[in-house]
Amino acid sequence: MIVYGWRQAQTAKEDISECTCHNCGKPFTLSIYVFHRYAHIFWIPLFPIGKTVKSHCSSCGLPLEKKEMPQELRHAFGNMNNRNRIPVWMFSGLILIAGGIICSMVNRLIADHKNKELIENPFAGDVYEVKQGPGIYTTYKVERVADDTVFLLVNQYTSDMQSGFSELKAMEYNDTAQAVFKPQLLEMFNNQEILTVERE
Ligand SMILES: [Zn+2]
Repeated sequence: MIVYGWRQAQTAKEDISECTCHNCGKPFTLSIYVFHRYAHIFWIPLFPIGKTVKSHCSSCGLPLEKKEMPQELRHAFGNMNNRNRIPVWMFSGLILIAGGIICSMVNRLIADHKNKELIENPFAGDVYEVKQGPGIYTTYKVERVADDTVFLLVNQYTSDMQSGFSELKAMEYNDTAQAVFKPQLLEMFNNQEILTVERE
């Protein structure tokens, strides 16, 4: 179950000394409060979705919405608004998601680099995870390497899902190996026909 929705937090409060309360006429009694609403997922703030502004008089207790505020109080709020920014923590979820995306991209680059190294230096026993076509996955096993020629044993079975690789590896391979030149192997990797290399 995914818990999501929105919450509200007070993000600013300032005492307004330049205005008197237009209800009770007392000075130094007004404060302005700013509340931000933010979307959350599992209580982790994702991004702000709006704000509300209220003033309160500590003497007569009169609360005012922004639209009810007299001109001078609105002006005070304008000054206050220029000083206050949306707090960064309200973007925590987005920052986490962006961090996760960057991490997975870096991991992908590292894995690609490692796979390429293994493809360029094939070794008997290497297992290649192969995409033969749309929805056709299988594995090839390196039987032996002789100079520039790599002898591949092709799995007798295929899977229609990429998740089938672990099962495929335990299946029977053809007895007769197919000879492939090393540059061809690299081409198959670059064309994303060979997806990953496993070496024990
Ligand atoms: Zn008042």
